[in-house]
Amino acid sequence: MAEAVILMNNISKVYKKNAVVKNFSLDVKKGSICGLIGPNGAGKTTIMKILAGLIFQSEGGLSFYGSSDDLDSNRKRMSFMIEAPIVDHQMTAYENLNYIRYVRGYPDEKRIDEVLDIVGLSNAGKKKAAKFSLGMRQRLGIAMALLTKPEILVLDEPVNGLDPEGIVEVRRILQRLSYEQNTTILISSHLLSELSEMCTDFSIISSGRLVENLSAEELDKRCRNHIVVRTNDIDRTAAVLEDKLSIRSYKAVHGGIIEIYEQLDNIEKISKTITDSGLIITKLNEEGKKLEDYYLEKVGGSNE
Ligand code: ADP
Repeated sequence: MAEAVILMNNISKVYKKNAVVKNFSLDVKKGSICGLIGPNGAGKTTIMKILAGLIFQSEGGLSFYGSSDDLDSNRKRMSFMIEAPIVDHQMTAYENLNYIRYVRGYPDEKRIDEVLDIVGLSNAGKKKAAKFSLGMRQRLGIAMALLTKPEILVLDEPVNGLDPEGIVEVRRILQRLSYEQNTTILISSHLLSELSEMCTDFSIISSGRLVENLSAEELDKRCRNHIVVRTNDIDRTAAVLEDKLSIRSYKAVHGGIIEIYEQLDNIEKISKTITDSGLIITKLNEEGKKLEDYYLEKVGGSNE
């Protein structure tokens, strides 16, 4: 099992008497892309600020690379983009990156061209940030975060407000970083659908509380809720399901289709038993809830 590079254990944050994060736990594995998903106001930024050391938790433990001592020295291996990236609009992309390079004391100026290339802004390095689209600005923010070659990248809603094309671009950049450099990424969003294709793990949060931590495979499994089968003879298929597979929970729907609600892990056996009975299968697949519906059920309600 991969090493936990970020571990939050029962973290709470209280402002005056208002607990905005309550007993939140998170375990981010090395090399994973972990999506911190929750509606607006759920506590995502607060959690990321605690990780960055911008604010302190009121209770609970935090460790990086297995150590809760000297968190700041491990923070040097990480980069954070929290809320909108701080971009000087009067400077070009290159100048913004060079400024960050000075502030962070990073000696290698060649790295600027490298990060511009990674985020697909090589041709825009000399353009003033004021002329950038929102997507370009977000990518410049990611370039700033990448400047110091972090092992862990923490990004707060980096695709918020981007059009679908912009979301795909950011996703590609992050997937490449994960694949090529094994960068660990913690990324937040209020929409699961924006991150569902890129994350290996999810942490769902609502009203400051952890709803669940689960892997992409587990999430897929949870959303699966029936098998759809169509054959050349619906009545005989129903008889096979009952007599040979002891399946009772199924329903014949329109178009000669049967939906099966049990034995979801037995799709191969179901398929073989039907064909061995001389029937012809013309459609067979697992179907289920959309990820976004599952998430909305979990966080209770609609998500603006
Ligand atoms: P998210 O990033 O999921 O949208 P936040 O972490 O920004 O959520 O906010 C969680 C809750 O904490 C919100 O209700 C917000 O109003 C509250 N909050 C955030 N910062 C402060 C603060 N400095 N003082 C008091 N309340 C705050």
